[in-house]
Formats: sequence, structure tokens, C-alpha cells
Amino acid sequence: MKINASLFVLCLIILSSCNLESNQKKESKGFDSKVEQLLSEMTLEQKVGQMMQINVDLIMKGEIWNLAVPNEVDLNKVDTIIGQFGTGSILNCGGHTWPRETWYSIHKAIQEKAQETSGIPVLYGVDAIHGVNYTQGATLFPQQLAQAATWNPSIVKQAAEITAYETRASGIPWNFSPVLDLGRQPLWSRFFETYGEDVYLAQQMTEACIEGYQGDDVSDKTKVAACMKHFLGYSNSFTGKDRTPVYMAERQLREYYLPTFQTAISSGAKTVMINSGEINGIPVHSNKAILVDLLRDELGFEGVAVTDWEDILKLYQFHKVAKDEKEATKMAINAGIDMSMVPIKTSFYKYLIELVNEGEVPMSRINESVGRILQLKVDLGLFENPYFPMEDYPEFGSEKSAQVSLDAARESITLLKNENVLPLSKSEKVLVTGPAANSLNIMNGAWTHTWQGVDDKFNTKGKLTIEEALKVKSSHVTFVVGASLDKEINIEKAVAAARGVDKIVVCLGEIPNTEKVGDINTLNMPTAQINLVKALAKLNKPMVLVLVENRPRIINEIEDMFDGVLMAYLPGDMGGIAVSEIIFGEVNPSGKLPFTYPRNVNDIVLYDHKATEDLDPSFGNNAFNPQYEFGTGLSYTQFAYSNLKMDTVFAMENEINVSVEVKNIGKVEGKEVIQVYVRDEVASITPSVKRLRAFEKVNLKPGESKTVQFSIQSKDLGFVGIENEWITENGAFTLMIDSLKTKFTIK
Ligand code: BGC
Repeated sequence: MKINASLFVLCLIILSSCNLESNQKKESKGFDSKVEQLLSEMTLEQKVGQMMQINVDLIMKGEIWNLAVPNEVDLNKVDTIIGQFGTGSILNCGGHTWPRETWYSIHKAIQEKAQETSGIPVLYGVDAIHGVNYTQGATLFPQQLAQAATWNPSIVKQAAEITAYETRASGIPWNFSPVLDLGRQPLWSRFFETYGEDVYLAQQMTEACIEGYQGDDVSDKTKVAACMKHFLGYSNSFTGKDRTPVYMAERQLREYYLPTFQTAISSGAKTVMINSGEINGIPVHSNKAILVDLLRDELGFEGVAVTDWEDILKLYQFHKVAKDEKEATKMAINAGIDMSMVPIKTSFYKYLIELVNEGEVPMSRINESVGRILQLKVDLGLFENPYFPMEDYPEFGSEKSAQVSLDAARESITLLKNENVLPLSKSEKVLVTGPAANSLNIMNGAWTHTWQGVDDKFNTKGKLTIEEALKVKSSHVTFVVGASLDKEINIEKAVAAARGVDKIVVCLGEIPNTEKVGDINTLNMPTAQINLVKALAKLNKPMVLVLVENRPRIINEIEDMFDGVLMAYLPGDMGGIAVSEIIFGEVNPSGKLPFTYPRNVNDIVLYDHKATEDLDPSFGNNAFNPQYEFGTGLSYTQFAYSNLKMDTVFAMENEINVSVEVKNIGKVEGKEVIQVYVRDEVASITPSVKRLRAFEKVNLKPGESKTVQFSIQSKDLGFVGIENEWITENGAFTLMIDSLKTKFTIK
């Protein structure tokens, strides 16, 4: 039995690598002559040094995560780490937010030492995932999931441009962003870091983001190198817990989890970070079929592949595929890793040198990796400008940038339910309550000022919480917290305060967290918050729910108690203002859910599910019945769709042109996202009930109408077939826009 199982796995591996290899190999562009020259002069030790990325804490006074105060560079440590080991890269600062002056003192110390010794600049990387979150006074944007909810790639691009500017303004040229893992497992603690569950929507956001970060020339002082995270399949672990096993057929990997990376590579993304976890029993960090055959040979990626945190060591310590650290090092480097993130508790440097000398890792592999790292440094212009003067960035943290963050929050916030309650009038008495009402940390989430984002001492002064922003707009707003995120505090006091008001706004949420720290055992909204709602509901007053959460926490027990529901996601530093503007009707909401909001913890069925997951007419068991559907988002106005026009028969090579008219038939101006879905009626792999194939956001004044055109290629209606290759099969399709439907055929 054991032998059979192993044989089966072996066959699968061989089969899958055959499939990967069957795809076309891409030609390499090669390195610049400067890089070739350096490679010919460097010693093995210097090359291995370039492949290391060290945590900045290691060059600061004090201990890791316990730095001496004030935080200062330790020149002796710089001497060892940069001078002696020739470390090629430094990253992050997970426990602090530093003023730009501190950042510059670090860059000065490391770059001067690098200049004086190897002459090769150090590459600094940071997780500026929703703004340059470890720099004081930076512009913090809504997190990625919220940005996807705007369905507006141009806002995502602007946010990325400002982030790139402010990251470079902190002296840093490399951003570990965007997260391109799809958000199809809502338990996952990093759900909020994704662009949601849909491939097409995420691809549009990916392209916009990469363009915003990198522009046409990454050596520009306003641009940074992007990092695609986390290749591949990281987000869909079986349990939803971070860095636990993913079991997935190659077909699903290719159809759902690969396209965002493909888009990023076509958009020129310079670097990639590898998935810490395993797929079908093989840790990605040791999987050559993924790291070379797929990423390099098939997708043609030529940039730097960095491990995630200590992931070479983990091949031995956690994954148990290597008998010791030296074997782990050999496996990862031979599988295609270029740079090792934080080999601090390890002997990576020693082992890799030994492995090359013993002929276990070929020198060609080292030259390839170091060549990529040096090429990136050349492309970023670091040899000329390891960092630019601080004065070159007058727009850092400007009011103009804050306005873009505010626009992003405005366009993301999604009205999920409105039974004649919103907008509220400023003359009404309103109680605002709940733990998410008075916290900038909850609105920003993890990766805000610190790794987990819970420390409020670094918060940006003057930014308003939801409670504060509502109070600025109306003198009839009172606040009683009622409950913390997981404890009842003063529910009776909140109920007493609610007796005297006209309407109640309850802000529920989730503690900022990410990665393993954010693992949860249930999606249920914590009981203390549910109890607050139940107590308030007894008063029978109109209630509005504002959700500020990392992932969709189950609310079906209390949803009926609300007349209105607003999803705020993690809207960032300007989220308080945006929520208050929407609550009082100064801004018309236009966000649309970028994921399916489940009704029950064990019923995670996504919008693009299979027909067997719809209602079974015989037994009625399988009903797809989410709390809110993907793409949902109401407005304070109404839109009417008409005149859906398209031909009914297409040849495979023809463009499928579609037009539809949308009219604002309400009384206020508003933005609408026209969403085009297509169903493949019959296919050789069970088709989804629908897939998003195009969308566009338009602004319409009352009474105004627009005819919107879409052009879809038949290849865009394809799927990954039995041979694990993209195909589009001819036959019948149905196209759906809002409630309009039309059938067409591809011949
Ligand atoms: C995370 C990455 C992040 C890296 C550096 C890891 O633990 O998984 O997303 O970029 O740390 O902070």
C-alpha cells in the first residue's frame, strides 16, 4: 500500500513536470556587461554574501525586537554584516515606525560601508503594503482587499505611485508588494492582503499596481521594484491556517492562482517572493518544477526570487524534507532560490560556500542568482544613487496624497444592505458604538507602523476614527464603546445611551493581525460583539452595521437586526472620514464586494462555483446561499440597464463585442460598476455557473445614461483543460450583465 501510494505520487510529480516542460521555454535577455564584469571579479564568499538578506534589527543597537532606545545604527555591527560578510540586502523594521531621518541614518551607514568594501550597493526591501507603513507621517491607504473593492484600477495605480514615491522618500527602492495570492479561503489571516476571490478582477488590480510601483523606469527616484507575493498557491491552505498544506491539482493552480503572477510578469515585475508553504506535499522552496520550469522557463521571469522569512531553514525545521540545514540550503538553492531572507539563526553563508566547494551546488547556479541580484541593483540605479536626498521628496505625506487615500476609501466602502435607513440625517440623534468605532489601528490592520499593527503609539496624529469623524459632521452623535473586540465592557451603558437616540451605528471588527498570529478556529464574529448587537436590538431602533474586518466574520445571527450594513474593509487612515461621509450621504457608496461573504462557517462556496453547488431540485441540499454575493454593492441612487447588444455567433478568432446602456434613474449622482459575466454552457471540464470577464466603473448624474462597450477575446472565455493547458471550446455561452442575459455561440 505504502509503495503504491509513493509510486502514485512519483507518477504525479513526473506527469506534472512533463506538463510544465511541455510549455514553451522563454529566451533570456542576459545581464548587462557591468554585471558580467562584477561576476567575473567577485569571490565565492562575496557572491554568497549578495544572496543574503538580513533583518535591520541586526545592525541596530540592542537586540532583535528589543532595540536600544533611541533606535540607532550600531556601526560595529554594520562593519561585520556589510563589511565582513558583504550582505547584499537588508529588510524591514517590523517593530517600529521611524522618522525619515532614522531611515536615512541607516542607509548612510550601510551604503557607505558597502561602498568602502565591496563597492556594491545594498538593496533595502520593505513591506510597504498599503503605504510605506514603517515611516512616520506616511500616507496609509486602504488595504489591498479594500482597494479591489473600488473596482477602479486607476485609483489602485495612483495609490501605488504615491507608495512608491514615499518608499523611495524613505531611501528604500524595493517593496514586498503586491500580494497576488487569491482570496478564496476566507479563514486565512492574510485575506485582507489579497485582491479578493476573482482572477480577472485581481489581474486588473495587479497590472495597475505594478505600473504604479515601477513605471517605465525603476531607477527613477519616484519608483520602486515590486515583489510578487507569494509564488505559488500560498492562500489556499486546506485548514485556512497560515503556512499549512495546500492540496491542489495543477489545473486549479494554473486557472486560479497563476494568472495574477503571469500578469505581473507581463507588466515587468522585478522580483518574486516564494510561498512559505507546501503544495501537495512539496514545499515550494524546494520545488524546482515551480521555481524553474514554471516560473523561469515557461513564464519567462528573469528577476530575483527571494525566500520568505527563514524559509530555507524551515525546509529542515518544519517541513522535514531535509535532514539538516546544509541539505536544506542545497535543496533550496538548487531548486532556484536567489536570495535567502533572514538567514540569521543559520549558517547559510558557511554551508553554501561549502556546498559549492564540494560540487553539491554548481557555480553556475550561484552566478545566475548573483547576476539577477546585481542586475536588479543596476536597474534600480543603486550604483549611481543608493538613495536620493531626503529634500527631493517635498510631497512626502502631503495633503494631496491623503486625498487619494480618502478617494480610495470612499470608492471601496460597500453598501451591502439598506432598508430605508441610510443616509442618516445630521439632525438625528445617533449613538455610535462598538470596538471598531474608535480605533485607527483596527481601520488600518496589520502592517501598520508595526508588523501586527496593534501598537497605537506610532499612529499618525490628526487622523480620525469613525467616531471622531462622525462627531466632526454632527453635534448629535454620542459614543459608548459597549464591547471590546472580544470582551463585553459596558453593554448596559451603551443600551442606556441608545434609549435617547434616533438611530444606532454599530462598528464591529477584528483585531489587526496577519500570518500565524492571525490564525483563527472559526469565522464567527466574536460573542462579545454579537451580544452588544443583541442587547441594542431589543430597543427596536433603526440600526446600521459598519464592518471593519480582516476577513468576512459570520454575522447571520445578527444581520436581520440591522436595517443597513456597510462593509468598510480595512480602509486605512482616511477610513473614518470616508465612513462618516457615506453615513451622512455626502458621498454615494460605489464599492462592490470582491469576495463572497459566507452566511455559515462551513459553507464556503464562491461565486464562480459549479452547477452542482447550486440548489439541487430533488433534495434541495446544495443551495448556494451566501450572506452577500461577490460583486454586490448598493448605491443611494438606482441604475437601470437596457439595450444589451451583441452578435449571437462568433468565430473563435473574432472579438466578442458587447454594448449595454446604463442609466441613473435615481435622484443623486453615483458610480456604478458594470460587471460582465459569462457562463460556458457545456465544457469538457465542469464549467463555473459564471465567471467575471469584463467590468467598467462609470459615473452618472441623475437622469444621465451611458452606453458602455466591452470587447472580449474568445481566449478570455477559456479554462485550463484536461491537458493542463488553456483552451476555449466552441459551443453555447450565456452573457449576463445585471439582470440582462443573452445567449451566443462560438463556432
Ligand atoms: C511574510 C512576507 C513578508 C516578509 C518580510 C514574511 O513573514 O510572509 O509577506 O514580505 O515576512 O516582512
